Amino acid sequence: MTLATVLAPAGAALLSLAFLAAVFVPLERALPARPAQRVLRAGLAIDALFFAGQYLVWNAVAVHVIDLTRPLLASRLATSLPVPVLVVLAVLLGDLVVYWFHRASHAWEPLWRFHAVHHTATELDWVAAHREHPVDGVLTQVCMNAPAILLGVPPAVLGGIVAFRAVWAVLIHANVRVPLGPLGWLFGSPALHHFHHVKGRAVTHNFANLGPWLDWLFGTHHAPEVGVSGETYPLGVEEPWPRGYLAQLVHPFVLLARSLSAPSRSGAGSPAPSTRARSSSSTRAP
Ligand SMILES: [Zn+2]
Repeated sequence: MTLATVLAPAGAALLSLAFLAAVFVPLERALPARPAQRVLRAGLAIDALFFAGQYLVWNAVAVHVIDLTRPLLASRLATSLPVPVLVVLAVLLGDLVVYWFHRASHAWEPLWRFHAVHHTATELDWVAAHREHPVDGVLTQVCMNAPAILLGVPPAVLGGIVAFRAVWAVLIHANVRVPLGPLGWLFGSPALHHFHHVKGRAVTHNFANLGPWLDWLFGTHHAPEVGVSGETYPLGVEEPWPRGYLAQLVHPFVLLARSLSAPSRSGAGSPAPSTRARSSSSTRAP
């Protein structure tokens, strides 16, 4: 291992940090969805650690896992379709697979334990977008990219798709209120995704990754009403959750171990909070 291979992720992290900060800090100041939210908010340091962990460690793990799946998937359906057609198919099918993985993450307790980490953010901004358990993150990346690998999308093109998805994921978590206009037919807005993070209600809406069409198709689309003063509903999860970075990484495994060792007492196999709430909540479940 050379010094260059050790320093490359750090360089990529710093470059990404500089790029994202240059784009989103002014955007959040100019068009805030929650104008009263402070830049130096609670939990910012934890989210910065998630950002660092993702760039320095977990992104490389995701790439490695995807590389391991490549021999299983590649060439199975590889076609000679033109690259633009392949890109459209890969994006649409990647969205379809990850939509159902995301729904499963809210409905099935073992997956919810890892996905819950992402939902523990009580204030959203461009840094909070990186709050994600690595197990959730790696599985999401595999689901999202499997169709592209199956279809034989060239790696360089796939890299471009991954980068675009990553920037859009940051945008939809950012504390911004941007009217997308006709673009909203193609891409989900921050307002839609912020409402996916609502606290205290059944999360049964806005699961789509990039475009809102899957939520329309499967009846889970919900556009929240936002008043002139911006978004006011609370964000986060109701269940108790540790706040520290390492504690958040470990906690899902602790819960899983507990449920495996005492299934009858801990409610192993019970649905995730969103599903439990669904039966008793009057929240619209579109
Ligand atoms: Zn979610």
